[in-house]
Amino acid sequence: MKPIDFRSDTVTRPTPAMRRAMAEAEVGDDVYGEDPTVNRLEERVAERLGLEAALFVPSGTQANQIAMGLHCRPGDEVLTEAGSHIIQYEGGAVSALWGIQPHPLPGDRGLLTPEQVAEAVRAENIHAPRSRLLSLENTHNRGGGTVWPLERFREVVEAARKAGLAVHLDGARLFNAQVAAGTPAASWARLTDTTSVCFSKGLGAPVGSALAGSKALILEARRLRKRLGGGMRQAGVLAAAALHALEHHVERLAEDHAHTRRLAAGLAEMTGVKVEPARVETNILLVEFARPASEMVSRLTALGVLLNATGTHTVRLVCHLDISAADVTEALTRIRRALES
Ligand SMILES: *Cc1c(COP(=O)(O)O)cnc(C)c1O
Repeated sequence: MKPIDFRSDTVTRPTPAMRRAMAEAEVGDDVYGEDPTVNRLEERVAERLGLEAALFVPSGTQANQIAMGLHCRPGDEVLTEAGSHIIQYEGGAVSALWGIQPHPLPGDRGLLTPEQVAEAVRAENIHAPRSRLLSLENTHNRGGGTVWPLERFREVVEAARKAGLAVHLDGARLFNAQVAAGTPAASWARLTDTTSVCFSKGLGAPVGSALAGSKALILEARRLRKRLGGGMRQAGVLAAAALHALEHHVERLAEDHAHTRRLAAGLAEMTGVKVEPARVETNILLVEFARPASEMVSRLTALGVLLNATGTHTVRLVCHLDISAADVTEALTRIRRALES
């Protein structure tokens, strides 16, 4: 029985065409700025995001953390949604690496309001940390793959700007937002000081992320990347996979979104399951089971459906490049079996 893996969109394997692109990549030493494939990737990412420059880094965590280090000094605070990746899933890096204090704000499926941001900013006062940065996430992972409506994003960014804050966007799944909303990734990114994107999520590359921003910020980001041990040498082998992904795997994210909607519709018909099909926006589906999540995860694992628990009764399913329409049909059959047994 073939396992169907919904744990994350990071579990994909590079396609044969992507492996060919990697094998044939022209390379040089990227720490010297001499890898032509990395340089080409960085130019393409900057173009796609409507920002001046970009930097190739090993992971999304490193991209986000370089941004934290660029915008904040020790004792400063970053305003961010309470479920955001930067404070939930990056090993405590904002405080461990930079001495930054997180200021978590409760969101609606990951989205904030301009009023919330304006109210959260601290007045100048020796007792308070300095509010320095607003960090947003699009799509929002814990929120269930939520896409930021562009107008709302603009208003929230404006509220931050008005208070003198810098703005970072964790765009690990920004291309999912682009495809779902039919709005270019640059529409959001251009409003920010820095934006990160991941190639190893829905885009299907084995490794790599990028951080984009102004030329001056990205020059300093190069120093922080080196400090974190992220300076890679003949990284063109990896950048070639990312370039291939940008060219061939963006538009197809629509298939993942359609698969996620079909999963939601199928699950909505089963008993002992709560899903909100109308809330599926991209490739992430949050499901609530009547039974404990841990029990459902082990039952489903035994039947070859892999997924992660995110709460006592909730699980997360993520669709990606290695999940076909037939896999979705088969998974629904297996889930039905798990619920009936
Ligand atoms: C996966 C992810 C990242 C980066 O994760 P890495 O595993 O370090 O590449 C950043 N932000 C969000 C929202 C993510 O889902």
